[in-house]
Amino acid sequence: MPLLEIDKDKCLGCGNCIDVCPFGALTLEGDIVVVNEKCTGCGACLEACPVAALRLPANKPVKAENLTEYRGVWVWIEQFHGQMCDIAAEILGQGRKLADLRQTILTACVLGYNVEHITKKAISFGADRVFWVDDPSLAVYRTAPYAETLIRLARLHKPEIFLLGASSRGRDLAGSVATDLYTGLTADCTGLDIDPEKGILIQTRPAFGGNIMAMIICPDHRPQMATVRHRVFEMPPADPEHQGDVITVVPSLTEEQISTRVTDFIQELDKINLADARIIVAGGRGVGGADGFEPLQKLAQVLGGAVGSSRSAVDAGWISYAHQIGQTGRTVRPDLYIACGISGAIQHLAGMKTSRIIVAINKNADAPIFDVANYGIVGDLFQIVPALTQQFKQKMQK
Ligand SMILES: Cc1cc2nc3c(=O)[nH]c(=O)nc-3n(C[C@H](O)[C@H](O)[C@H](O)COP(=O)(O)OP(=O)(O)OC[C@H]3O[C@@H](n4cnc5c(N)ncnc54)[C@H](O)[C@@H]3O)c2cc1C
Repeated sequence: MPLLEIDKDKCLGCGNCIDVCPFGALTLEGDIVVVNEKCTGCGACLEACPVAALRLPANKPVKAENLTEYRGVWVWIEQFHGQMCDIAAEILGQGRKLADLRQTILTACVLGYNVEHITKKAISFGADRVFWVDDPSLAVYRTAPYAETLIRLARLHKPEIFLLGASSRGRDLAGSVATDLYTGLTADCTGLDIDPEKGILIQTRPAFGGNIMAMIICPDHRPQMATVRHRVFEMPPADPEHQGDVITVVPSLTEEQISTRVTDFIQELDKINLADARIIVAGGRGVGGADGFEPLQKLAQVLGGAVGSSRSAVDAGWISYAHQIGQTGRTVRPDLYIACGISGAIQHLAGMKTSRIIVAINKNADAPIFDVANYGIVGDLFQIVPALTQQFKQKMQK
């Protein structure tokens, strides 16, 4: 639906607006300007009109009665190289709960190439219906073909809630889809629930530097859209008996209509995958320098875990950003999180406090990290970490 409104009585057909529109969204029909679907509502044309015949509504109205037409919870099933990402299963688990609360169905949107096996997986994680779009043009993620297909489906089927992972691809896709559907989007949610009275989605996320948890609603527009970080929700158990319908859908764009091409794929050199690590040994400013991470690396190696860090250590240049855990880093949920020389600032806790077991090693007995720790060791990490490594090594050998 175009966003611009044109007052046909005022329009002179001078064409000034057509010249300045960066998207080719305006054309002349007779001596009157008309707007097409390419309009993004950027407003570049407004000042070019000498008679103020163009208008962007401050808030595109969605009539209250229309909101009831929107039903169902949708989840975008992120996949990489033909494998469904864990985050998709985690969101399906939460989506199932929301759909049950709304007494509606859960739909999975599976886009890719040779991804039929993912439709079955999505159903086993709770989807009642799958839109399956399988085409070579979708083999590698690109914004336009993915977004255009989801936008078309959403306009046609009108979901009430649409959830995506807060991965690089999910963030990119969610922004594009929400913009075109002219709805709101809450990024990086840490909680999703249904308001029992109004039936609308309550989207919780940290705000103001993590000092408050904001509860955000989208009462006037649909779908209510949110992205969710990896490991915020627990992965549900797969149920191979669960049944669902698979609906084949053709993509909205042909390869010729897509202007971007993937020429190469370069694997990140720093292969650390914190989000999937079951054990993390993390260091903070207390490690005192890049060399201070060495004993932590040894412990992580013995335990088969990964090394994480606080932002202070990253900002100091002691370790790369890929290791950062917290509000502006990764969210992790390992079975065991060993925090070494980390004070426990709220922004760090935002990324690790749902870990199953937290062990804190800090020489300050009053450090706030001890408030969230299951086990606390007060002392110098340079004595404790090597001692732990030694003990674990002996136990592992046995
Ligand atoms: C908008 C915003 C976003 C942020 N995002 C993040 C984020 O994503 N992740 C993050 O971590 N932070 C983030 N921060 C920064 C955060 O507020 C803290 O500054 C940071 O987490 C502190 O890191 P730290 O615990 O390593 O350092 P400090 O707070 O300096 O703590 C160091 C700790 O080490 C202990 N220690 C020192 N020497 C030893 C030793 N030898 N043995 C044992 N213990 C020792 C000290 O007692 C102390 O408790 C953010 C801040 C803002 C404003």
